[in-house]
Amino acid sequence: MNESTANTLEIDGQHLLESVIRITENRDQRALEQCLIDTLLELVAANEIHLYAAETAIDGLSLKPLVQTSTTLLTAFDPSEDAMLSLEQDPEVVRALDLQTYVTRDPDTTGRHRVIYPIRSSQETIGILVVFTHNTSPAHHELTSALIRIYRNHMQLLHDNKHDTLTGLLNRKEFDAEIMELMAACYGDSRRGSDMDFKACLAIMDIDHFKLVNDNHGHLYGDEVLLLFAQLTEQTFRNDDLCFRFGGEEFIVVLKRVDIKLALHVLERFRIMVENFAFPQAGRITISIGVVEILSQELPTSIIEQADQALYYAKRNGRNQVWSYEKLVEMGAVTGAEHSSSVELF
Ligand code: GH3
Ligand code: MG
Ligand code: MG
Repeated sequence: MNESTANTLEIDGQHLLESVIRITENRDQRALEQCLIDTLLELVAANEIHLYAAETAIDGLSLKPLVQTSTTLLTAFDPSEDAMLSLEQDPEVVRALDLQTYVTRDPDTTGRHRVIYPIRSSQETIGILVVFTHNTSPAHHELTSALIRIYRNHMQLLHDNKHDTLTGLLNRKEFDAEIMELMAACYGDSRRGSDMDFKACLAIMDIDHFKLVNDNHGHLYGDEVLLLFAQLTEQTFRNDDLCFRFGGEEFIVVLKRVDIKLALHVLERFRIMVENFAFPQAGRITISIGVVEILSQELPTSIIEQADQALYYAKRNGRNQVWSYEKLVEMGAVTGAEHSSSVELF
């Protein structure tokens, strides 16, 4: 873009519409982020654009880089200025987040500005966009802000589609979509060295006598137990573990990078924690858990069936217990042929 056209914005309507269609066609979060950046680089002729997700941490907001890209090979920030301060402490970022409006820095020697755009959902800040550009006309800002809002709306739709409304955990549909990928990642190729191996375990957790909670306290308090239980799972399991609401009062956790021995240990700790948790109205509840190590050779349905057999064993033997499928096979308590499903499969 030459000097005379640098600060004017001329885009025909059809081109703009196609960009919006492209953004809203994405079904994958990562692809959506990349599409927003590519669209902005093209439409507002920015030099560099960096997208960050905002996450609430104990000591305030933390910004996690999602996509960093540019039309040049320049690095993100001028090291003499910005490497000294973390982005969270950067006064212009703080101002943009406080005022919920974009904040522009005076241009550098090449005439390039840095503009910070906050990205907000209806309740909270969910990210920021850092744009390095020579173009700072109101029309450029308006177009960037509008595309950010389209991105945000679409991102929220994608998020809602994957999550359970009551508990906020990943939903059954998302489980079905993710399980094949997870299984492919587990021992992807047995000829590879052990460093490359990826172990994971799948646990099915079912609340004991949950029907009684509803019967004794009403459905609303039953819902509250489900919500609080979901929060306990999210607090307990690691960030990259996956927690799903699989059915009414049934939950699945995929524990990544653990073997069955460690999974049993972690799940037993969780079982005890739930047993000791005082639910506001329902008081004490217990859970039964069945777990199995995920092997890529198995079918998803077999993995769930095996975890379910272990869960069923825990239920039959007094509830409030954790059992692994491997242990049951070792004890001769189940055979490959046995089939006792309390979980509705597909
Ligand atoms: P068990 O120990 O054998 O698992 O007994 P249970 O009572 O937990 O199992 P059962 O399958 O007999 O009952 C499950 C109950 O969960 C019945 C159903 O009303 C309740 N439930 C399912 N989904 C929801 C929900 O979204 N909210 C509430 N409040 N209850 C639900
Ligand atoms: Mg139950
Ligand atoms: Mg059940």
